Amino acid sequence: MSRIASVLLPMRLPEAFDYAEPEGMDLAVGDQVAAPLGPRLLRGVVVGLREAAGGNRPLKPVEAKLDDLPLPLTTLEFIDWAARYSVDAPGQPLAIALRGARAPKAKPEKVVEPTGAAPARSTPAREKVLAAAAGARLSPADLARAAGVSAGVVKGLIDEGVLAVRLVETLPQFPAPDLARPGPALNDSQAAAAEILADAVRARGFNVTLLDGVTGSGKTEVYLEAVAAALAADPEAQVLVMLPEIALTQAVIARFTARFDAAPAEWHSDVAPPARRRVWEGVASGRCRIVVGARSALFLPFKKLALIIVDEEHDTSYKQEEGFIYQARDLAVVRGKIEGASVILASATPSLETLRNAEAGRYRWLKLGARHGVAELPDVELVDLRETPPETGRWLSPPLVRAMRETLARGEQTLLFLNRRGYAPLVLCKACGERMCAPDTDSWLVEHRYSGRLVCHLTGFSMPKPDKCPHCGAKDSLVSIGPGVERVEEEARALFPDARVAVFSSDTMFDAREARRLVEAMEGGEIDILVATQAAAKGHNFPMLTLVGVVDADLGLRGGDLRAGERTYQLLAQATGRAGRHDRPGRALLQTYAPEHPVMQALKAQDRDDFLAAEMAEREISGLPPFGRLGAVILSGEDPAQLEAFARAMAQAAPNAEGVEVYGPADAPLALVRGRRRKRFLVRADRNVDLSAYLAAWRARVKPPAAIRMTIDIDPYSFL
Ligand code: ADP
Repeated sequence: MSRIASVLLPMRLPEAFDYAEPEGMDLAVGDQVAAPLGPRLLRGVVVGLREAAGGNRPLKPVEAKLDDLPLPLTTLEFIDWAARYSVDAPGQPLAIALRGARAPKAKPEKVVEPTGAAPARSTPAREKVLAAAAGARLSPADLARAAGVSAGVVKGLIDEGVLAVRLVETLPQFPAPDLARPGPALNDSQAAAAEILADAVRARGFNVTLLDGVTGSGKTEVYLEAVAAALAADPEAQVLVMLPEIALTQAVIARFTARFDAAPAEWHSDVAPPARRRVWEGVASGRCRIVVGARSALFLPFKKLALIIVDEEHDTSYKQEEGFIYQARDLAVVRGKIEGASVILASATPSLETLRNAEAGRYRWLKLGARHGVAELPDVELVDLRETPPETGRWLSPPLVRAMRETLARGEQTLLFLNRRGYAPLVLCKACGERMCAPDTDSWLVEHRYSGRLVCHLTGFSMPKPDKCPHCGAKDSLVSIGPGVERVEEEARALFPDARVAVFSSDTMFDAREARRLVEAMEGGEIDILVATQAAAKGHNFPMLTLVGVVDADLGLRGGDLRAGERTYQLLAQATGRAGRHDRPGRALLQTYAPEHPVMQALKAQDRDDFLAAEMAEREISGLPPFGRLGAVILSGEDPAQLEAFARAMAQAAPNAEGVEVYGPADAPLALVRGRRRKRFLVRADRNVDLSAYLAAWRARVKPPAAIRMTIDIDPYSFL
């Protein structure tokens, strides 16, 4: 009897395709294979096998079984679940899962080894080479250099068979963590939490814990203990630590390395392909036991995942907005369930979703007390910009400048936080009023002075700043409106010419290493004033940082999406939490035009719980997450009439279902992007409704014209 293999391909196809299993190939579910699709051969994964019924038309055969590790069944189950939840094709999450498997292997390097044979004749140069070769495995060129001889001497010994050339993998393997090393002595509150987490990990089985404690309370130390317990309880157990920003990985890796005397594997978009391949294989084979990574690490083929930690769980960076759309924190919980693993969600400002689950008893809730040691939370003051505004064309108010001066005089550091990249968010012609926009896109161009360009942060379009208005032709008429970090840096330099000022934003930090260098400079006290976007507001620990100035605390409250208040609170609490983490007391000044706003009042009082209770009540009344579900459908097309007609047809086709409301179609706030018009539907459903199934059913009822793109976004974070 011959068999049929269902092969899932890493593409946006509705389902797995059937192929015939060639005689003797002996496939198993999870195997990686090469399978033909049209004229191409693609890497795919076997997701099912069944006996051929016979009589059907012949199927194309699987071309080859690949010599790569298979995907574990739990990984396949997770991929399937994620696709169904996101109302997307399973090939999409599979593509993420195969990113490491498809990366090229590192090229092996030549090293020279003694064979044991004695040289026919001995010379001082030859002796030096043999001595060096006995000590270390080096390439022929390095060996000659180490011995201080010419390359010909080494070659002669190789030709004679005294030395042999061997090919070796140069990437370091995964050192085993040293679990006997003790961690720091924990304080009582930490020790109690660590004990409970270690017990949960040892007991095996799925469980979720919210580890809730102010910034600096020592959450990382606590979860390191849970990691140690997981690895010690089972010699095959693996741990995944997820972080919201690449900029944070280096610091966390350093802490893991110090704790276990072995570097964990690193996984994010900056990791070079050969290293990615090695991590993928290490994870699939079980040799790699700790992975620290960004959200896509969740799709790695773990052999035996025992513990997942989602640090800064509230962070909106966990939401992937492009390509395969998913919320990594939520999927981490799903993965934990499938793997039978413990999940720890750590935050000083947990998301309302997680808090709700903790309140309802679905998650365990561990609270850490005060900051570790003598460190205290900073004093938070509101600077009312209506009363003490900065001078015209300036952004730092007199009270903030005064505080900066005092901080500098004490030899301490200031962080100026402004969540806006570039120099100015808007460039306007003072002659004709024209606002510089990206072509075919409803978004302003942001001025970047370092690069001298105007950049669209939405599409990536950029152009040199013109010297006359492209609209009216007036010369030197373009003015920069509003501040970005580069402009605040300019102001700080002008105010304090002797201070060492630096900028930390995704434009100035090109990769993880560069970010690490800046963080180290800050830790080492080589910077007096750091102007930073949210990239620096999270997670870091700067001993000499005692003043945080929030340049525009109202920024996140504008635009009014569902999470505006919550997000602003989280971000500002994180930013202000950077101050005074050690023995020096910290201060935070928030510049605001709305000091009476509940978010500002909560930040001032440092009363998280009151603020969250009020937010929670509002969401409950309106049935919004976490009390209800939201989904968005975004349609885009170049032809406005066609888009309009399809959006109307789609509205007609919406299934009637109890507990579901469909709003729209409406023009998206960003109604034009890259020449495509955009329309949106918003769907609200009660918690007990399977919103993914509803949207899948809706989509099945319509067939968009080829020129119209439809995107479904479950639990949207962006309402643009
Ligand atoms: P969080 O993750 O809650 O922000 P961290 O774990 O980073 O807090 O701890 C803040 C600082 O306090 C770090 O420098 C950490 O090394 C230190 N720390 C925390 N707990 C202890 C402890 N028990 N002993 C010594 N140092 C600690």
